[in-house]
Parts: sequence; C-alpha cells; structure tokens
Amino acid sequence: MTSLPAQPPPKRLGLAIDLDTCVGCQACVVSCKEWNTGGYPAPLSDLNPYGPEQTGAWLNRVHGYEVGEGDAGRTVHFPRSCLHCENAACVTVCPTGASYKRDEDGIVLVDEEMCIGCGLCAWACPYGAREMDPLGGVMKKCTLCIDRIYNETIPKAERQPACVNACPAKARHFGDFADPNSNVSKLTVERGGMDLMPELDYRPTNKYLPPRPARKEAASTAKPLQPAGGGGFLAWLDQALSD
Ligand code: SF4
Ligand code: SF4
Ligand code: SF4
Repeated sequence: MTSLPAQPPPKRLGLAIDLDTCVGCQACVVSCKEWNTGGYPAPLSDLNPYGPEQTGAWLNRVHGYEVGEGDAGRTVHFPRSCLHCENAACVTVCPTGASYKRDEDGIVLVDEEMCIGCGLCAWACPYGAREMDPLGGVMKKCTLCIDRIYNETIPKAERQPACVNACPAKARHFGDFADPNSNVSKLTVERGGMDLMPELDYRPTNKYLPPRPARKEAASTAKPLQPAGGGGFLAWLDQALSD
C-alpha cells in the first residue's frame, strides 16, 4: 500500500500589533479600505461620504486614547480588526454557516452568498470587529487580505496584508503563530504580546504588544503604564472596548 504524502501542518496566520510604535497615522485603515474595496469582500460601500453623517464599511479602524495624567499621561493608538479567534463565537452563532474558520490557516471569513445579514455574529464578537455593509446588507470583516497573501501575481515581498505593507512605523507584523520560530511568535515572546479579553476564552490569534514605559517615566519611577482599574494595560483596553 502506498502511503499518502504528508500534509503540511495547519498554520495560524495573524497579526502582532505594536501599541508602542503605532502613531495613529491611519495609513493601515486607508490601505485596507483601498485594497478590499476592489478585492474579495468588495465593494466596501460608503453612504454620504462628503456629508455630515458619513457611514460605511471599514475592516480596520484605529482609535486614539489618552491614558494616565500629568507626566505619566500619553496617547495610545489602538488598531482594531478581526483577531481570527480559535474559539470564534461569530462562527458558532451564525445560523446559515456563512461565517467559518479555515482549517488550513485559521483565517475567519464570511461567505457573502450565504449571509442573510441577521447581525448575530456582530453581537457575538466582543471586539467590535464585524461590519455590516450598509448597501450590500451583508456582514464583512478582515480577511487578512486572503486574496493578496496567496496571490502569485504580485511580488513575494508584498504578499502580506495591505495594512502591514502600508504601516510607516512597522507597527504591524504578519506571520504564522503556529510556528514558534516565526517573526510574530518571537515578537510575542520577546515583548510580552497579549490576548485581548483572555477571560472570554475566544483565544484570539492576533496579539497586541504593549506600550513600553515612557522615557521620563522610566527614568524616574520605572513604573510601566498602568491604566485605571489596576488590571494591567489590556484591562484598560478591555474597558475601552466595552464602552
Ligand atoms: S474577533 Fe470577532 S469577528 Fe473576529 S474571529 Fe473573533 S469573534 Fe469572530
Ligand atoms: S450576519 Fe451573516 S455572517 Fe453574521 S451571523 Fe448572520 S448570516 Fe452569519
Ligand atoms: S499604519 Fe501603522 S502606525 Fe499608522 S495607524 Fe496603522 S498601525 Fe498605527
């Protein structure tokens, strides 16, 4: 009997996002919109784009927050998109099977042909990562630029999500978290990369690298950034997401 060729081990693709070096420039937001409005989840429609109440679908948003007071105060920019969770409740609750997670690389996607626009997945996602397209009436979300990362018609160095390509601060890193020697796995270990809301056990693939202490702060008290609540940096982010 001939044995079947060994299958490559499944990947766990995702992003490591550096909250220390993100400057909130929004280049990743615009680049994401530009690529995806002509790609796999296209179009990402907009309503009243030049009017007083613009709305539309964006798969990546960056929020800015003031944290701390006085000398200890600083601005933190928080990029928000789908985290491609291992235990993705958006998939579990979807009544039509439109939401699914790929076995081979862990990317969570929406099959728009099957989506009925019920919005249950948006309720289930605690990270606000789903976007109802206002004109299409279907749910959209970050695809990790699946039509780019496997696209052999573009140069190899550019086969990464559009947001990663665009970031001038190199705050966004793309790679395979299943491989302990990948760039993102190593960065996560070196920088203490964190899960958002780990208590929910959604097991997000994406990791956030926390801000380092400000130079002034490090020189005087060497105290790391501690947001209100005393639960560590990401407890503050959890609070911001819940507001
Ligand atoms: S971040 Fe939200 S939309 Fe993305 S996989 Fe997790 S639960 Fe689903
Ligand atoms: S909006 Fe679409 S993807 Fe989300 S739960 Fe409903 S059918 Fe599934
Ligand atoms: S492009 Fe980079 S620095 Fe600019 S907002 Fe996005 S993650 Fe932050």
